Amino acid sequence: MSVIVQKYGGSSVATTEKIKKVAETVIKRQKKGHKMVVVVSAMGDTTDDLISLANGISKKPDKRELDALLSTGEMISSALLAMAIKDMGYEAISYTAYQIGMKTSGQYGKSLIEDLEVEKINKSLKEDKIVIIAGFQGINEIGDITTLGRGGSDTTAVAIAVKLDGICEIYTDVDGIYSTDPRKYSDAKKLKEIDYEEMLELASLGAQVMHSRSIELGQKYGVPIYVGLSCSEIEGTVIREVNNMNMESKPVTGLATSDEDIAVTIKGIEQNINILSNIFEVIGSRKINIDMISQTAPIDGKVNVSFTIPKDDTYECMSIIKQFTEEKNIFIDKDITKFSVVGIGMKTTSGVAAKMFKIFSDNNIDVKLITTSEIRITCAIKQEDKGKAINLIANKFNL
Ligand code: ADP
Ligand code: ASP
Ligand code: MG
Repeated sequence: MSVIVQKYGGSSVATTEKIKKVAETVIKRQKKGHKMVVVVSAMGDTTDDLISLANGISKKPDKRELDALLSTGEMISSALLAMAIKDMGYEAISYTAYQIGMKTSGQYGKSLIEDLEVEKINKSLKEDKIVIIAGFQGINEIGDITTLGRGGSDTTAVAIAVKLDGICEIYTDVDGIYSTDPRKYSDAKKLKEIDYEEMLELASLGAQVMHSRSIELGQKYGVPIYVGLSCSEIEGTVIREVNNMNMESKPVTGLATSDEDIAVTIKGIEQNINILSNIFEVIGSRKINIDMISQTAPIDGKVNVSFTIPKDDTYECMSIIKQFTEEKNIFIDKDITKFSVVGIGMKTTSGVAAKMFKIFSDNNIDVKLITTSEIRITCAIKQEDKGKAINLIANKFNL
């Protein structure tokens, strides 16, 4: 009998009515002969509300206590869902990360899953209980509660599916993965399937529909991930290895944007690779994700270096850079959107970047920074140009 691991996102469990609807859907599936494990996110905007509460107490909330606070959201929704299922006359049990030995490592707020114990889950499944698990949380080496980063319940679900050798289904408020966020481009096309590599790039570059680490896990262990609309029969999208690099396949599969980064420029630093590598090494050691690095040609032995970092890491990153250079040499640009196109087809199709830059230049869209990989092109543009850029590029590449 197969185990199905389903995950319901915040909007799917936003009210008690919606929780009851999820309970009915899960029971229906169990009746078809499956063992059901359900991972839940916090109800609606609970996590944002908890963050606001913390910000009302402190300008820089203590990270350990912030995780202790944020983890409570998922405890509420998991207990309520178990309660709803029991109320409908079926067996259910909710577990927190501690109860299933969800071990994490790394920093508070962005911890990584190391392992989890499946004995308790399996025992409950054997007793025909529907197992409900609080997503997004773990317990670190010293027994503290940690969280996996925003959107992390997806990763909880995939990790559990991997360990139980189960089928993984992510339910959310859209009926699948689209070529770009359907809320930002209404003509976006739904994809039947998408390769792990492409989805990983899109998720890392701002497509918030999936937590990027959940895709890494799925890919590593070969677990396909189904993404669909909560409590609906509409066919969604499967994320898996897709080998369709045929003549018909499009060079660009998807487009993602992110306003979550800032651009940092350090002016007039000695053209000495040691200085730069020291700066990047210290920033990297704090797990701050540096992207889009570019350097100007040297003038009198000095260069300007620009790169992007997540907005949330601005304070920490600045304090590191100030150890290497004077404050007057550091410039920050908060008005950037990272605009990316992604597609495995780019491996075999040339000219995608040229087409994109031509469209930008014909339409007076300034490109501030560029990075490319084998399957993606990312440009930093002004935030005010985002909407125009999405329309132009999605149209050109038939997304
Ligand atoms: P949940 O709370 O269920 O985890 P999220 O808000 O994290 O849901 O993710 C769902 C949202 O992701 C959608 O409402 C949609 O606006 C957005 N999204 C961004 N990019 C895409 C995409 N390429 N395909 C589908 N949805 C996308
Ligand atoms: N509740 C958490 C968040 O809002 C985790 C999740 O939804 O996956 O980020
Ligand atoms: Mg999410």
